[in-house]
Amino acid sequence: VNCLDFRREVLVDPCAASADALEHARACPSCAEFHARASALDAEIAGLLEVPAPSGLEDRILESLEPSRGGSRRRFLALAASLAGAATIGTAALFATRDDPVALAGIDFVVEEEANAILTAKPADPGELRHAALTLRLALPAQLGEVRYIGTCPFRGTIAHHVIVTTPQGKATLLLLPDQGLTERGEASSRGLRSFVRPAGRGSVAVIAESSRGLERIERMVWSS
Ligand SMILES: [Zn+2]
Repeated sequence: VNCLDFRREVLVDPCAASADALEHARACPSCAEFHARASALDAEIAGLLEVPAPSGLEDRILESLEPSRGGSRRRFLALAASLAGAATIGTAALFATRDDPVALAGIDFVVEEEANAILTAKPADPGELRHAALTLRLALPAQLGEVRYIGTCPFRGTIAHHVIVTTPQGKATLLLLPDQGLTERGEASSRGLRSFVRPAGRGSVAVIAESSRGLERIERMVWSS
């Protein structure tokens, strides 16, 4: 276990660090401090996404993402064929032809800089994140997932509010970009990750995740409330 492995593990769940990880922390003062800070932060950010989503939203989203539920696969395929060409979020994600530069930069950030941002993180300020969300007129419903990390970092010349959540579809990164104005939605797919970026208020938000399903869920939750 090196410092980065340790911090990634602790971010997923500070209370469930493995024996190997704890041994690393005993020998590494800066990781021990990181662990203490992550544990303290855990309680503080647990209630961060406290805007309640409209009731039934999660069910409706899951239903819309699992069209085969309650119907045969053939019926689903027939439906999918009849919907082909419709400009839904899903088909747009499947048939995106050109990577949006901001969405692509979001993926590069997650692959190249996220770990470093975590390693050099200063104490998080949940109030700052709330303010950024407010500025972007965004509701971050509690059902989105568990917040594992919040921080600020440079992104394409402005400050990004960096949020990592664990969702039923795995880890996702949100970059709230109050000073990154945007005229239209864009998507990218690269290095095993997918992302989209959307205008929000006078700024924008980039979301990066492993699966398009995870992305769709987040997009519907955040932009339908
Ligand atoms: Zn260490």
